[in-house]
Amino acid sequence: MSSERHSGSLSMLFFPLMAPGHILPTLDMAKLFAMRGVKATILTTPANAPLVQPFLARANASLAAYPMSLRLIPFPPDTGLPEGCENLSSIPFRDRTALVFKFFDAVPRLREQFDWVLRELLPDCVVTDGFFPWTYDAAAELGIPRLVFHGVSFFYLCLIDSVHRNRPLESHPAGAEALVIPGLPHRIEMLRSQLPGSEGEEFFAQVREADSKSYGVVVNSFYELEPDYARHYREVVGRRAWHIGPVALCNSDTNADKSARGYEDASGRRDDCLEWLDGKGAGSVLYVCFGSMGEFSAAQLRELALGLEACGHPFVWVARSDGGDDEWVPEGGFEERVRGRGLIIRGWAPQILILNHASVGGFVTHCGWNSILEAVSAGLPLVTWPLFAEQFYNERLVVDVLGIGVSVGVREYAMKPEDRGVVDAVTIRNAADEVMGSSDGAQERRRRARELGEMARRAVEKGGSSYKDMSNLIEQLTEKKKNAVQPQPQPPLV
Ligand code: UDP
Repeated sequence: MSSERHSGSLSMLFFPLMAPGHILPTLDMAKLFAMRGVKATILTTPANAPLVQPFLARANASLAAYPMSLRLIPFPPDTGLPEGCENLSSIPFRDRTALVFKFFDAVPRLREQFDWVLRELLPDCVVTDGFFPWTYDAAAELGIPRLVFHGVSFFYLCLIDSVHRNRPLESHPAGAEALVIPGLPHRIEMLRSQLPGSEGEEFFAQVREADSKSYGVVVNSFYELEPDYARHYREVVGRRAWHIGPVALCNSDTNADKSARGYEDASGRRDDCLEWLDGKGAGSVLYVCFGSMGEFSAAQLRELALGLEACGHPFVWVARSDGGDDEWVPEGGFEERVRGRGLIIRGWAPQILILNHASVGGFVTHCGWNSILEAVSAGLPLVTWPLFAEQFYNERLVVDVLGIGVSVGVREYAMKPEDRGVVDAVTIRNAADEVMGSSDGAQERRRRARELGEMARRAVEKGGSSYKDMSNLIEQLTEKKKNAVQPQPQPPLV
């Protein structure tokens, strides 16, 4: 029997970490399941509803079977965070590090509310964020399988497993020397200074333990992008995994779909942006964006501005400063000098719309996994500029394994803008020229990127590798549901 016929009655609860880089792909993923007849419910907190509701309204207008629904649970009180700060991207720039810790202290306090929702909805499966290891226990108590969503690549999942298993950092406790991450399909060399310290080890041990007990892992990637690592993760790391991406391709139908993702003001910018891009030559524009949390010091923004001015290519730049003001704008009429050639967006940009416009030819990125996949799906080469989190690992995939990127050469992992060395304008201009230019290397990167873009689109089409793996997952969950002893609705917790 086909998965579509089975799937009508499957219900899944999706609970992402409250950050755009986790909520947005979770929404896309839930929409893909809903398009296959699954009843999908998104769980989040009230201040995150504006990020979710417009997406659901659009998606539900075209869903034939069950509409996607939203459940809200209150964010814990007395967290020490500013009022209404329920998303990592809304944490104020100042004091960010201390507040991020407070945010992660608050998150497990959602457990009781999560239990209530589980007992009431009794979904057939939960898809919860890798940062929520405690959701495994809550689901297991009710016999509900948990799928983990980390929102990262197979490549990163394999590297981080090797770092944990083989402990290469122990022989490189500090400093900028190179080290090889052992036991992987390719020789992957990184600088010690590009990797995080040992903070959060206890927490990540909990994450690994919950991962290993969970039903499996859903990965926003496609087989053809990283086949060696998709196999390595399953066979060597030993996790059950399904590749179902790039999930953002479910927003490909119309410009309104492409720009309805994210914060509302993006749609307001859509028409201006489109008009501006329409006026530029094919493949001539460089798009510059550092995700939802990549902020820079004024000194760095000034160099970036000068680098973009010097490279001579038209650019769209999503600029966020740690002070929120314009003290970084280079003196002497920078905005006038680049008028017509540079579009500066202060705030939320309709990224998918921009990346898929024919005039865009390259992307300067912080190497967040969603941004990389969105660029790959659009067939674009990259200038890589990682800042923190798993971004330095992603850079190795893009530059060394996929051969579609040029590194701007950042050597140090740093959360805080003021802790980062400044990349100068000349270095930025050179990297931009290398990606946008016509050298043999640039042409080869462009050819590879286009090829990967075609593979990405095929992967999510009916019969493609990700489409089929999602069918496999739906089939297995449906089978599991049929064989499970149905838990009885529970009385509410007191
Ligand atoms: N994004 C966007 N407009 C912006 C900034 C980000 O649409 O101005 C989206 C982007 O398309 C991606 C997500 O936000 O889907 C950011 O995720 P990513 O993993 O790239 O980076 P993070 O923000 O998690 O560091």
